[in-house]
Formats: sequence, structure tokens, C-alpha cells
Amino acid sequence: MDFDKITVCGALELMEKGECSSEELVSGLLGVIDSKDGEIGAYLSVDHADALEQAREADRKRANGESGRLLGVPIAIKDVLNVKGQACTCASQILKGYISPYDATAIAMMRKEGAVFLGRTNMDEFAMGSSTENSSCQITRNPHNMDCVPGGSSGGSAAAVAGGEALAALGTDTGGSIRQPAAFCGCVGLKPSYGRVSRYGLVAFASSFDQIGPMTRDVRDSAHLLGVISGQDDMDSSSLNLPVPDYVSMLKDDLKGVTLGLPKEYFVDGMDDEVRASVMKAVDVCRGLGAEITEVSLPHTDYAIAVYYIIATAEASTNLARFDGVRYGFRAEGVTDPIDMYGKTRSQGFGDEVKRRIILGTYVLSSGYYDAYYLSAQKVRTLIRRDFEDAFKKCDALLTPTTPTPAFKRGDKSDDPLQMYLCDIFTATANLAGVCGISVPCGKSSDGLPIGLQLLGPEFKEENILRTAYAYEQGRENG
Ligand code: GLN
Repeated sequence: MDFDKITVCGALELMEKGECSSEELVSGLLGVIDSKDGEIGAYLSVDHADALEQAREADRKRANGESGRLLGVPIAIKDVLNVKGQACTCASQILKGYISPYDATAIAMMRKEGAVFLGRTNMDEFAMGSSTENSSCQITRNPHNMDCVPGGSSGGSAAAVAGGEALAALGTDTGGSIRQPAAFCGCVGLKPSYGRVSRYGLVAFASSFDQIGPMTRDVRDSAHLLGVISGQDDMDSSSLNLPVPDYVSMLKDDLKGVTLGLPKEYFVDGMDDEVRASVMKAVDVCRGLGAEITEVSLPHTDYAIAVYYIIATAEASTNLARFDGVRYGFRAEGVTDPIDMYGKTRSQGFGDEVKRRIILGTYVLSSGYYDAYYLSAQKVRTLIRRDFEDAFKKCDALLTPTTPTPAFKRGDKSDDPLQMYLCDIFTATANLAGVCGISVPCGKSSDGLPIGLQLLGPEFKEENILRTAYAYEQGRENG
């Protein structure tokens, strides 16, 4: 079996025809992980015996005539999502030793459909970062070039899919953490609209942005997985009660009747030439498939990074207050009283980037600065949201690069937080506006590094971006 190529839908077909079992699939993947993950470093933990037992259980169910949309399909899970009985560390020392007592809703929905939870993937600590270098546990390498970062924060998930160590993975996206690593590693990454997928059981970073989404080898798998994890959930009041369409059946080979907008603010001077060339080539492919292309404007784009880093850090500073040594994981030793215990636990347990964000977030929320920073940022967020509403009056989806450059070398930006933050320039806007987005590979740089094409769609119109991405993917392969 070619573990670099096999897809979720492909594996399901093989299992349905009886040409392979889940146990064979899982033990094959465990073999790849054993041989390759020492170098790639995608996984934080893999419980071989448990994964094989889940696979055998899926095989038993299939033999009994039971079915499921993911029956026997192994999926890798970012270490920020609770899977009952497994460790959930968020790649932080402060959650060392914590074992999830329950399943996140997205996990429970996948479990109901028979998925096998293969292992936990590395990430930037608490999903804060764009390179996975902020993990307190280990380095993750980009399978396309071991000196380069896999992107972040879902870098382990992207590297596992790209390195043949998983057919698909779940990631989370607060400002680009699914789409950017997907672009860097040459896979497909989808961030659903805010409210499409329940956040229950996802360790919160910035609650008004966070979304869970699939990272896959192709667009069909993305549509298939999104269908499984979407829907209203009583445990997350921000999840919306809207019907979940059959996304896979809405995929089409052409783009007749589809209008795609190119936001002029996303094609600026100084952008990487190879990224621009690949994206423009993708525009031609879409035009050839029947799409109408039009220029649009998102005039408040310049403010997006500042606004994102004010609101996201504010929300993070409150969300992370719960990690105090009392309830979860790690507690510092040699403390004199509770205040000393909180202080020492948090100083020792959190890494530098997490502390920087807690401090920044506390600052922008503090009295005297709240109006100047937090409140202003919220107002500009509304303007950014309106930009998208206006743009979507003229088109069905927006077409942009996912990232300003292909993957960069490890260490290139890790000493300069601002440079790292600027990596999110094309992705964070979708989280600010609540709209959906997908990154799909659109070629490679002269160094052989993948380049990502981003499609952004109106809220709860995932079918628009999936349809466009799918047609493009077919057109790219045929063209
Ligand atoms: N890179 C962004 C940040 O550091 C996005 C992270 C994310 O989407 N989780 O905040």
C-alpha cells in the first residue's frame, strides 16, 4: 500500500470491497511512523496497542454488517483536542500528565462513525505560533525539506499527512493554523465558518476565532470529514443550528456560473514572485474551468494583524487563567502558599510565547488601555467583517495566496515574534470575519517547496470553497 498517496475515501473503498482491513491499514501506518517519525517528529504520542485494538474493533463491526462514514479509518489528532483516555498536553509542560476524561464533540462524532484515533500530533504550545517551533516538546520537520518548518500551529498534523504517517488529521485554526501548515506541507486544510463545528473539548486559545477542521490529501476527503464533524451542539452555544449539506455530492468538475474575486490588497508589491506566479496560474486554471474572475477590495486588510493580535491575546489571557496548578497537570514544587504556587506553576509551566501573549492580553484589557486597544480592535474587526460581506455580494468565493512565502528555514523567524506574526497576514482575516477558508496546493517553488492557494467563502458556504477547490484540483491535474 502506498501510504504517501492513499486517501480517506480510497481507504474506505478498499475496506468496503474487502481488499484491506483496518488492522492492515493501521499496522502499515504504524510501521511508517516507526521508521520515519524519528526524523519528522510529527507525533507527540502514539499508542500502538490501542490504535490496533480500535482497528480490530472496526473490522469486527464491518464483519457484522455495521457501517460508518469513517469505519476503520485512522486519523491523527492535534494535541489540543480531548480524546477520552488519551494525554492532551497542547505541547505545553503545564499540562504534563493530564489525561482527557471525555471526548471533544468533533471526536465523539468521528468515533460514532467508526474512526480510529491514531495518535497525537505536535503543535505550537497552546496553538500560538506559525512554525511549531513553540512546542515545548520537540521539533517537527517539513517532509518536503527537513531544514524547513512545517508551519503552525497544526504543524504536526500537516507533517503527518505530508510524510505518509496519516491519511488525514484534525487541526485547529484561530488565525491560520490549519491553512498555513497545509500550504507549507502541500496538503489540503479547511477552516470552517465560525459556528459550523462545535468547539466543545477543544482547549480554548481565542474562543471567538477557534475552529476545528480537517487536514487531508485531497479536497474530496476534506468535504467528507467536514460533513462528519459539522453541526449544532448543545455543549457549544456558538455552534449554529443549520442543516449540514452533503458536501461531497456538491463537488463538481467545472466552475460554470461561479464568480471568483481577487482581493487587490492580497496581491501587493513585494510578495514572493513564485507564490504570485503559482496563484496567477491557478487563476488561469479556474478561468479555463468556466469561472468568471473579478477584482474586489477588502480595504481594512492592513489592520488585520494588529486587530487579531490584540483580540486573540486578550481572549488567551482569560482562557489560560485556568492553568494554575490546581486543576490540571503540572504543579510547581517547593511552594510556600497558594499565591506562590500559582506564580511558580505558571512561570515554570508556560513557555515564552505563551507568557508574552498572556502579558499582552492582560495589558490590552487593563483599565485605561481597554478603550484604546481592545475596544478599538473590536470596532475594526466589525469593519473587516463588513469588507467581506461587501466582497461576497460580488462573488461566490475569494481567491488569494495562503501565505506570503513558502515554508521558511527553522530558526529564521523564531527570534523575531513580529516577523512570525506577519506570516498570518492572508489567513487571520477569515477568523476575524468568521468566514470559511481552504488551502489547496497550487504548485511548488524552485526549491521544491509547496505553495498554497487559498479560497475564502461566505459564512456557512463551505460548499462554495469546496466546489472551487475540487474543480481546481481536477483541472490542475488534467492541465
Ligand atoms: N499563527 C497564529 C498565532 O500565532 C495563528 C495560530 C492559530 O491559528 N492557532 O496566533
